[in-house]
Amino acid sequence: MWNLNPAYLCTQHLLGEHKEIHQAVGSILKGRSLKGHLEKGQLEIHNLKKRHAELVREMKKRNFNHNSPLPDFEEFYAGKIDPQKNKLDLMKRCKKCRVRIKDQDKKEKQT
Ligand SMILES: [Zn+2]
Ligand SMILES: [Zn+2]
Repeated sequence: MWNLNPAYLCTQHLLGEHKEIHQAVGSILKGRSLKGHLEKGQLEIHNLKKRHAELVREMKKRNFNHNSPLPDFEEFYAGKIDPQKNKLDLMKRCKKCRVRIKDQDKKEKQT
């Protein structure tokens, strides 16, 4: 999970994060441990549902179909993501995201 403004994410990273949320919920329902991801600061269990809704909203805005409701699961408090660190990471890793982040930040300054 990036936990960044969904407008920051290029298509690949938007769809990627969405898929990861479904996988994380799948793991929870199967009783698999997410300890590794939690320790690396990649997941916030208590934010999965909220984050999924945000990403779906952005996907619809970009005309992607969403035919996969998130299965229900019991939320619990676990994990801590550092969005500021993720933002820098993503800017380093992905040129498309970097362009979007710069555009978006510029827009936000103007408004
Ligand atoms: Zn979904
Ligand atoms: Zn990207």
